[in-house]
Amino acid sequence: MTSLPNWLTDNRDTASLAAMLAPASSSSLETLAAQSRALTLRRFGRTMTLYAPLYLSNHCSSGCIYCGFASDRKTPRRRLEPDEIRQELLAMKKLGITDILLLTGERTATADFDYLQRSVEIAAQEMQRVSVEAFPMSVIEYRALAESGCTAITIYQETYNYERYEALHRWGPKKDYIDRLETPTRALEGGIKTVGLGVLLGLSDPVEDALSLYRHLRHLGRTYWRAGISISFPRIRPQTGGYKPPFPVDDHTLARMIFAFRIALPDVELVLSTRESATYRDGMAGLGITRMSIESRTTVGGYHDADIHEKGQFEVEDNRSAKEFCKAMRAKNIEPVFKNWEPAYNGPADGNKANPHTEKPKPCH
Ligand code: SF4
Repeated sequence: MTSLPNWLTDNRDTASLAAMLAPASSSSLETLAAQSRALTLRRFGRTMTLYAPLYLSNHCSSGCIYCGFASDRKTPRRRLEPDEIRQELLAMKKLGITDILLLTGERTATADFDYLQRSVEIAAQEMQRVSVEAFPMSVIEYRALAESGCTAITIYQETYNYERYEALHRWGPKKDYIDRLETPTRALEGGIKTVGLGVLLGLSDPVEDALSLYRHLRHLGRTYWRAGISISFPRIRPQTGGYKPPFPVDDHTLARMIFAFRIALPDVELVLSTRESATYRDGMAGLGITRMSIESRTTVGGYHDADIHEKGQFEVEDNRSAKEFCKAMRAKNIEPVFKNWEPAYNGPADGNKANPHTEKPKPCH
């Protein structure tokens, strides 16, 4: 039996979040929404930061039962070569996008660390902000990635329930629960500035998973108190393989979760992707969510070649153009933000410096 870290079952500071998340909570959804809205306005103003995903490769060595790129799917496999990445980046820039998330499947010989690092370098020449959602890496690899221009990584635990995790991850490197759990720590040790965490809603009990996610964030925050943190709320979408979520999360439960996390962690970036409908995303803007994806293509090469017919990792629900999305935000008095100034005020990544997240503040004289 794998031994799990003590912090994963530490309930010392979870009572108020648990009370807000409970289906029979005494706090009404309206009360939580009002509190969440006020905190969001105070901490983030009337803004929405925008980004778009860029799928570099759909090769994968893992067998996650809920994913259209699992290695047993009949999906055609490909990876973008440097010239194709540049073409994709140019197509994205024409849409106004300067903040991107590069994605791959689990590490394979075709899409390995060297390939990913080269892709980050190319992207960093064109974009204001480059994030990565790929495979777990070592501290040394994260340091190299940061030096190549990656400022943030996304790594979802998918579910914190160990037994469910074992059953859902049928084979491949992703089956290693503990390795994945420790990945955000390694990324921050390597000098990555921001880590994005989340669970894939629908795989397991959502309240239990949300509480474990919170414990994970608190655990990271105790050591890496200067790190940027973001939380995403992805719900399972239809995909090749036809996996149906055994714990479906309805709109009200998702809203309660978003509001509860905003109240519990007022400064943390909360992300909602194009997995959700236009109506739901517009409704959540200003109430807690501060970052959204736009113009998402979940196929490899989907920006330059809009006619690609192969299946993506999952189906996108909000298919609006950036222009349509921005119009909807402005109608709600929310300013869409395309440009990210973080690299300018944080300075360049420098793996030789002391860890920027744990460094003690200098005394003021
Ligand atoms: S979720 Fe990621 S690791 Fe799992 S099968 Fe899909 S691409 Fe591979």
